[in-house]
Amino acid sequence: MFDTQALAIPQDLVHELGDEPLFDARTVTRVRAAFADITSVDGGGERLVGHFYAALFADRPDYRLLFPPNMEAQTGKLLTVLRFVVDSLTDPDPMLDFLAQLGRDHRKYGLDRRHYDAAHAALLTAVSSSLVTLLWSPTVEAAWRRVADVVTGTMSDAADAEELPAVWHATGVGHERRLDDVAIVRLEADGPVPFAAGQYVSVQVPQRPRLWRYLSVAIPPNPYGQLEFHVRRVSGGWVSPAIVGETAVGDRWSIGAPLGGLHVDRSSDRDVLMIGSGTGIAPLRAQVMEMAMRGTNPRVHLFVGGTYPRDCYDLETLWQLSLSNPWLTVVPVSEEADDPWWHTAPPVELPPGMHRPLTGPIGKVVASFGSWADRTIQISGSPSMIKTTIYALRGAGTPPEIIQHDPLI
Ligand SMILES: Cc1cc2nc3c(=O)[nH]c(=O)nc-3n(C[C@H](O)[C@H](O)[C@H](O)COP(=O)(O)OP(=O)(O)OC[C@H]3O[C@@H](n4cnc5c(N)ncnc54)[C@H](O)[C@@H]3O)c2cc1C
Repeated sequence: MFDTQALAIPQDLVHELGDEPLFDARTVTRVRAAFADITSVDGGGERLVGHFYAALFADRPDYRLLFPPNMEAQTGKLLTVLRFVVDSLTDPDPMLDFLAQLGRDHRKYGLDRRHYDAAHAALLTAVSSSLVTLLWSPTVEAAWRRVADVVTGTMSDAADAEELPAVWHATGVGHERRLDDVAIVRLEADGPVPFAAGQYVSVQVPQRPRLWRYLSVAIPPNPYGQLEFHVRRVSGGWVSPAIVGETAVGDRWSIGAPLGGLHVDRSSDRDVLMIGSGTGIAPLRAQVMEMAMRGTNPRVHLFVGGTYPRDCYDLETLWQLSLSNPWLTVVPVSEEADDPWWHTAPPVELPPGMHRPLTGPIGKVVASFGSWADRTIQISGSPSMIKTTIYALRGAGTPPEIIQHDPLI
C-alpha cells in the first residue's frame, strides 16, 4: 500500500482518470491475454524480461553500465513490477503511486527522458518477441503501447517534477552485530533526509558499488540526519552479507529518495495492529518511536516475530517504549518455542510484566485472536511472511482494504 497523500500523480493522468478509465476494457483484455500467453510456458516471464534487456542493450549498449554485473535479482524485480502493472489495469491508482515513487527513486541512476523512451521501445519489442501462441497484431500492439506510455510517462513525469535531491550521502557512525546474521547500522547524513517514519530508502554501500538495495529506516526522521538500519544477512546475497559483515565506521553510503507509505492514519479513529518479523520490525519501530513523542495516540498492538525466541533481537527497546506509553502493547512471537543449541546470541531476558511469548507462525498466531477488523493493520517482513500473514488474516475474516504493507519486490 502507498500513501497517496504523499505522492504526486502526473496531472494529465489525473485528468484522464477523472473522465474515463485510464485503460479501456479492450486494452485491459488484450494486455492480460498477451501476458497470460507469455507466462503460460515455464520461465515465460523471465524470457520476457530477458528480451526486454536484450532489446534495451542492443539499442543502447552504454545503458548496460547502469545495471549490476549479475542481472538475476534485477530480472525478478522487473517481472514483479510487470505483473503488478498487468494486475492493476482496472484499479490503477496504487500502481500510479508506485510508478511515481519508482521514477523519483530512479533519479539516482541519472536517468532522463531518453532512457524512458528506450525502455518504452524495448518493452514493446520484448512483448512482441515473447508471445507464444498469440499474434503481435496492431490491436495488441496498441494495447501494450498504451501500457508503456503510462508506465514510462508516470515515472519520468514524477522524476521531472521532484525537487528534492536524487541522492543523499551519509557516514557510518556505528555498526552493532546484534545476532550472527543481523547488524544494526547507524549513519549520519550530510543533511536531514526528508523521510517519514515507516518509509524505506534505497542504499548503496562502498563494498558493493552500483548494487542498490531497499532498507527501512528504523528510527523517526530528525534534524541531525541520523539514520538507523537493521539488516539481515541473506545467505548467498550480494549486498546484505557485506553490510552485516564488513560495514565500518567512516563508510560513506548513498541514500536514495524515501519510498513507501506505511503510516498510521491519524484522521481515522481506528486502533492499530502492527505485525513485524525479523528486521521487518524496522518501519514499525520508527513509527511507534515517533508516536511516543506525541500526546495522544491510538492503541497499538505490536506483534514481533522471529524463527527462534532469540531472533526477536530488539524486544528490550520496544519493551522500554511500551513501559512509558500505555497505548502500546508488545507481544513476542516465535515459530519455535526454544532456541536451538547452536544459537550464539544471548537469550532474550523477558522483562517482568511483558506479554508472555507466543509460539507459532506469526500470521496464524495473530489471526487466532480474531479478524482485527476494527483496526488498521500494517505487516512488515519478508515477502513470504507478508503473503502468509495476509492469507491467515483473510482466513479469519480481515477485510483486505485495512491491510498495509510495502511492495513485495
Ligand atoms: C520495501 C523493502 C524494504 C526492505 N527493508 C529491509 C530492511 O530494513 N532490512 C533488511 O535486512 N532487508 C530489507 N529489505 C530486503 C533488502 O532490500 C534485500 O533484498 C536483502 O538485503 C537481500 O539483498 P542481497 O543483495 O543480500 O541479496 P540478493 O543478491 O538481492 O539476492 C540473493 C538471493 O536471495 C534471495 N533473497 C533476497 N532477499 C531475501 C530475503 N529477505 N529472504 C530470503 N531470500 C532472499 C533473492 O531472491 C536471491 O535469490 C527490504 C526490501 C524491500 C523491498
